[in-house]
Amino acid sequence: MFKKILIANRGEIALRIQRACRELGVKSVVVYSEADRDAKYVKLADEAVCIGPAPSAQSYLHMPAIISAAEVTDAEAIHPGYGFLSENADFAERVEQSGFTFIGPTPESIRIMGDKVSAKQAMIKAGVPCVPGSEGALPEDPKEIVRIARQVGYPVIIKAAGGGGGRGMRVVHTEAALINAVQTTRAEAGAAFGNPAVYMEKFLENPRHVEIQVLADQHRNAVYLGERDCSMQRRHQKIIEEAPAPGIPRRIIEKIGERCAAACKRIGYRGAGTFEFLYENGEFYFIEMNTRVQVEHPVTELVTGIDIVQMQIRVAAGEKLPFSQRQVVMRGHAIECRINAEDPYKFVPSPGRITMWHAPGGPGVRVDSHIYTNYFVPPNYDSMIGKIIVHGDTREQALARMGIALSETLVEGIHTNIPLHRELMVDAKFIEGGTSIHYLEGWLAQHKR
Ligand code: ADP
Repeated sequence: MFKKILIANRGEIALRIQRACRELGVKSVVVYSEADRDAKYVKLADEAVCIGPAPSAQSYLHMPAIISAAEVTDAEAIHPGYGFLSENADFAERVEQSGFTFIGPTPESIRIMGDKVSAKQAMIKAGVPCVPGSEGALPEDPKEIVRIARQVGYPVIIKAAGGGGGRGMRVVHTEAALINAVQTTRAEAGAAFGNPAVYMEKFLENPRHVEIQVLADQHRNAVYLGERDCSMQRRHQKIIEEAPAPGIPRRIIEKIGERCAAACKRIGYRGAGTFEFLYENGEFYFIEMNTRVQVEHPVTELVTGIDIVQMQIRVAAGEKLPFSQRQVVMRGHAIECRINAEDPYKFVPSPGRITMWHAPGGPGVRVDSHIYTNYFVPPNYDSMIGKIIVHGDTREQALARMGIALSETLVEGIHTNIPLHRELMVDAKFIEGGTSIHYLEGWLAQHKR
């Protein structure tokens, strides 16, 4: 096991990784920007290194600063968390070339999966079902693009090969709008992701977003830890996640889960990862793979009892997975609500000082958050300030527990989306379960205020 790990991230995930290190008896170094000087995990850290000013480009995305922080503190490994450099193959490579262990897959795996076109090609080869669409990136020739779209059938969605975070996609309903949409998406993708390549998929009209969590070690063992339903989204961004996915027969999950685990073995994947799928009419269609820990990993931890972050660290240290697929058992139901510092209905970010914070508690309630009373939410980063995750024997119990937990939570001084979550927990369709990825947008349009 490592003696010391550097955490190259901020916010709740920095605290989450720090906790995992503590339990494993590993010392942790946190890096922070000037805006995060007062963060809880910085105060709690064994060691902390300031790596630059508030803008991410000069701190959390600044590779030389992070690598030198690891050097001066004698860390052995670097955990990238999610976001920032976590899916940057060049960073993983530089970490390893500098003599540290990157807690994640190989740079090569990250590179393949980071490009959605090559990821899909790898999945097709590994026998994982994908959304029908263009074979690879779209060509330049407009006539050819029109031909491909006719073959795929409208509506289609144009997606950036290098896209992420719900950005870089455009739905096209008619041939008249096609070429313009391709050109705009290309230009945006070039500017935002440094890669103008785009591809085409059939736009599924009413799918759910269901993903499979996997864990693989460096000894060619791979397991899947069940699924998560992340269909409650706004602008392609998840806000509520749950496990298991309501109403999907276990044999269908097992079949796709086994495919994912087999694909991991085939591509020599190591660490934690997520295969994201759209699920429609009983079929799974792969959309992308995330090669890192995800925001919503706690729902899987609560139903399986497996600490995913500790597993990431243990397999990075060369340990074998301590359980087989048969030993992975899902129990009960878990739901996560992402708490964002934003107006609950207009979604305008609401950074600033939290004058009062009271966390919920009670049976089956977990809070992953770095905030505290008098904490200042910096305007420089993502608006998520924490997550409330609940577990119950049944979905009904989990829903009830989430409702209570949300009603107990107190955040003053800034706006949060807690009022929205409270309304959704009593929404008849959500309670029924199995809503599609478009449900929340429709709900918001109906509940305009
Ligand atoms: P990102 O990397 O930006 O998260 P994804 O490829 O994972 O992009 O897609 C994010 C979301 O966009 C999905 O969860 C879904 O809501 C929507 N989406 C993506 N592809 C399709 C598609 N072919 N049909 C319908 N919706 C899609």
